[in-house]
Amino acid sequence: MTEQSAELATHEQLRRANLSLVLRALLADGPCPRSALAARTGLAKATVAALVTELESRGLASAGTPERNGVGRPGQVVRLDGGGVFGIGVQVNVDSLDVVAMDLGGVLLVEERIELDVPTSGPQVVLDHLAEVVATAAQRIATVRGVTVGVTVAIPALVDEHTGTVNLAPNLGWRDVPVVVALRQRLGEPDYPVRADNDANLAAIAEYAAGAAAGVPDLVYLTGAVGVGGGVISDGRLLRGAAGFAGEFGHLPLDPAGHRCGCGRTGCWETMVGLAALLRAAATPDDSVRNPALDLDQRLAEIRRRAAAGDDRTLRALQQIGTGLGLGASILVNVFDPQLIVLGGYFAALGDYLVESVNAELAARVVANGSECRVVLSPLGFTAAARGGAQVALESVLVDPTVVALRDRREAVSAGGLA
Ligand SMILES: [Zn+2]
Repeated sequence: MTEQSAELATHEQLRRANLSLVLRALLADGPCPRSALAARTGLAKATVAALVTELESRGLASAGTPERNGVGRPGQVVRLDGGGVFGIGVQVNVDSLDVVAMDLGGVLLVEERIELDVPTSGPQVVLDHLAEVVATAAQRIATVRGVTVGVTVAIPALVDEHTGTVNLAPNLGWRDVPVVVALRQRLGEPDYPVRADNDANLAAIAEYAAGAAAGVPDLVYLTGAVGVGGGVISDGRLLRGAAGFAGEFGHLPLDPAGHRCGCGRTGCWETMVGLAALLRAAATPDDSVRNPALDLDQRLAEIRRRAAAGDDRTLRALQQIGTGLGLGASILVNVFDPQLIVLGGYFAALGDYLVESVNAELAARVVANGSECRVVLSPLGFTAAARGGAQVALESVLVDPTVVALRDRREAVSAGGLA
């Protein structure tokens, strides 16, 4: 590289970093005049003006005149224009696939569930379905003249985040499945990035971005389904550990004399508080709430109905789960000292019947007396991980806004002019 081209490369890197800085400021703090944007980012006003013009031409920001309030010339207000840029998140569950397409402003264009018996279908068939739901969502994005900037697959598994390979997914029966490579092939090697990550990690990211813990930098997310997953945000960052497998809280060995776990061990926390444990405690084997062929939301609604009607067995089951949940949660609070514990999945759906027992256990077992840690319920439902996946996909735009092509170039390409 010549000295001159090295200088150009550095200049280009700096411009991209500054575009990123301005876009992040608009996303984090909302609309504001250019002068305030300059103050917030520490950039010169002329630089900000040029950057805003570029963001506008990429369809990422818009500048307009605000309502006049009083005397004087009103300055133009710059706002995020996230409506044309989308991330796709797909969540693999034991019994379904959830897909969302979310724009940079956090608005969902697509939110769908496809029923699928994942363990029985096997990885190849599930990957075919994944490719189909992603392609359908991308088409939907194209119909609103939007741009797909990435796809993230959320899986209840140990996922090698760098290669996108599932090392082990006990509840799906998957081992060594190269999800990202296989999905990219099926999608015809798209020009946007495809990633895979642990579902609870992505759900924790979603809660931190826009859920129950929006902006809370120290939180523990726990989700209950067939398994129990978790993710930790510590000082604003997802805790991954050395190999990226941190947060496997479902396999904390809390009941050595207990039930056999999907991982092959005995007495893991998820055998105490996973969905199977709840259903075992709440209903006899022939009860319809234990029929996996029926919709989970409906079965949980039936359990809620019974609890509200004061059914003794249901209430005892919920108390048992809440106490077991609090036991494990107290370990996590002692270890991570979070401000919030966010309960997701079925823990959120039945949360108002669980929180009291959880809090009682925390009060008894957390060493930091008067810990400020609160237990809250996720508002994101069962699609939190898919939303987190979309969020991570959108991150590529925040890192480098130039991944979104200039508008006139995009239009020329779609008209065949630059193809
Ligand atoms: Zn286990």
